[in-house]
Amino acid sequence: MEEIKRRHAVEEKLTVIASHDPLTGLPNRVLLQDRINQVILSSKRDDTFCGVLFIDLDRFKFVNDTLGHQYGDKFLQLVADRLRELLREEDTISRIGGDEFIVLVSNLKNEKNIFPIAQKIKSNLNKPYSLEDHTVSCSASIGVALFPNSGTNSDELIRHADIAMYKAKKRGGDSVLAYTNQMNAALKRRVYIENCIRSALLEKSFYLVYQPIINLQTQKFKSLEALLRMKGLQKETILPSEIISVAEETGLIYPIGQWVFKEACSHLAQWSALQPLKISLNISFFQIINENFIADYKRILNETGADPSQLEFELSENLAMEHKHDVIETLNHLIALGSTVTIDHFGMGHSSLRDLKELPIHKLKIDQSFIQDSDENEESRQIIKAILSLAKSLNLEIIAEGIETETELDFVKKIGCDFGQGNYISKPLSKTALISFLHPKEGAKKSVSG
Ligand code: C2E
Ligand code: MG
Repeated sequence: MEEIKRRHAVEEKLTVIASHDPLTGLPNRVLLQDRINQVILSSKRDDTFCGVLFIDLDRFKFVNDTLGHQYGDKFLQLVADRLRELLREEDTISRIGGDEFIVLVSNLKNEKNIFPIAQKIKSNLNKPYSLEDHTVSCSASIGVALFPNSGTNSDELIRHADIAMYKAKKRGGDSVLAYTNQMNAALKRRVYIENCIRSALLEKSFYLVYQPIINLQTQKFKSLEALLRMKGLQKETILPSEIISVAEETGLIYPIGQWVFKEACSHLAQWSALQPLKISLNISFFQIINENFIADYKRILNETGADPSQLEFELSENLAMEHKHDVIETLNHLIALGSTVTIDHFGMGHSSLRDLKELPIHKLKIDQSFIQDSDENEESRQIIKAILSLAKSLNLEIIAEGIETETELDFVKKIGCDFGQGNYISKPLSKTALISFLHPKEGAKKSVSG
């Protein structure tokens, strides 16, 4: 008898171990899925709603990295305790790995009732935690998926709540977001783009187009901006607006950037033999902070024979200014090699005069949204003039980009911008179109200089 009792106790213990997270004692994913499926059945029976909250801590990695794993573990236990205090006994709180928790809220009379619960969790998790001698704060991103509208089984509800959480995190974290069908479409597209990039790197299905930049005062051709294009898995053309953000998130921006350098440098070496030429390359902040950046650039210059003094680098304003101390040294290296640096999309970020003085740069490229607004919007015209006078006082040259009409062209020319670029002057050109531009038969040259 004693033996049977003992065996039962051991079996019970084993069941608990198999279905619970050892660190926090909360149900694990297996038990959670089981509970979700049970709650779905009772929701159907009682005509109620239930929902899944996917919670991810925004700065847990920081806690773990700075204080160490022991503190990280203790921190996760405190989060679990806080969730236990907040929720009803009939709700299931589960930890499914790392800093990810899922809460199953059952028996909702109205589906909207889940949002105050999610908000309450978010604001409580936000309060500081005492970890022995440290005080730690950590916000949370919460994705919400409701039965039956956002999913009809446990897998679907968890997956959709996860998608909504990812979206909430992308918005900067510390927020609650409900799943929508569009999110799924956006995520599928993102996965597709990532697959296209990986395949394009292997199959070499990237290519460059080049948009001419002219000297506005002389109307003469000045240089070319290299712009990335990708053939997708269905052979369609995919633009950088979709490629770059996915590439930056996945770290694929570095190999893509290497490909762009190599391709543009080989073209530069070939075409310079025909006429003097400069090429501008867009670079992402995530490329320049790579420690191999300069060594790789030098290697590519050697391999292709391109002259670095014919290369300009365009760096977007936002991240460059925010992390200027991380980029100054690399920019100085580029300049020492003879290349120049332009701040791209200028006017969209928050550069101070001091930032502009401290960064080693040669030109500012005014963001095209100001140029395209300048036809009708006096404020945009004033902003362009202000940028121009700021640039002149700092001895920087100005490029106006995205010029689409004659009026815009006349305006930027009249106020004294140095260089211009845009579809009105010339659309980005394929390599073949460009070769005829570089060997101008009369007609071809005309179409480029407008
Ligand atoms: P950007 O550097 O500002 O490049 C100019 C963008 O404006 C290009 O879009 C060009 O096709 C478009 N454009 C030029 N003239 C006009 C015009 O008159 N009207 C309008 N509406 N658009 C015009 P694209 O090629 O789609 O590139 C978008 C952005 O992606 C670029 O903006 C640049 O920031 C980034 N990008 C492009 N190629 C690369 C690359 O090789 N590496 C990195 N890191 N970023 C790149
Ligand atoms: Mg650019």
